[in-house]
Amino acid sequence: MSRTILVIEDEQKIAQWVRTYFEQAGFTVRLVADGRAGLNLVRQEPPDLVILDLNLPGMDGLDVCRAIRQDKTPAVANTRIIMLTARVEESDRLIGLELGADDYVVKPFSPKELVARARALFRRLERVEQQAITELRDGELLVLVEAHQASLAGEPLDLTPNEFAVLVALLQHRGQALRRAQLIELALGHNYEGLERSVDVYIRQLRRKIETDPANPQRIETVFGVGYRYA
Ligand code: CA
Repeated sequence: MSRTILVIEDEQKIAQWVRTYFEQAGFTVRLVADGRAGLNLVRQEPPDLVILDLNLPGMDGLDVCRAIRQDKTPAVANTRIIMLTARVEESDRLIGLELGADDYVVKPFSPKELVARARALFRRLERVEQQAITELRDGELLVLVEAHQASLAGEPLDLTPNEFAVLVALLQHRGQALRRAQLIELALGHNYEGLERSVDVYIRQLRRKIETDPANPQRIETVFGVGYRYA
């Protein structure tokens, strides 16, 4: 079955352009121009991937992203999201990653590049699904890789898909200092623009969620001049 893509974008020219490229690549594509209508569609029939513009009528793209991640239905909450942002929206881009977007593409972008990003995301998904290691543990921290669940002292952790992937990569390379680029490659399967800051966003969020004292991390250590290491 072909993967389904929902494009939430009010600029008709861009939306049509994106549709053409994804359809040529064998995906099934739906278009919607309004944020709220887009969110309703995601809830009714979760697609495999949402291409989400930030500046939308009806409901802002960041609010759509937040609402998807906070949805009670896991099939909705785990929908993959690639944001479309303008170059001037850099702070929005970081907020978007914190809210749980999987990736972003800066306008003006090449549709070819966007399709490549989507493919990388799906490859990553398939790799996680095929992973032989199903359980990673560090004291009270337990990560069930296939089930995409993590808990601390029995309490479920609310991690975005990217935070989860970064945590799994760190745990799989325990004791090893990983450069930011290496970490993103291991976790997300590709490199992208703004990479170093994105890694730092994920680490900051993870520390907030898994460390007793995020200011004095005992699990995820900073290795100065290198990157990060899981202790
Ligand atoms: Ca727009």
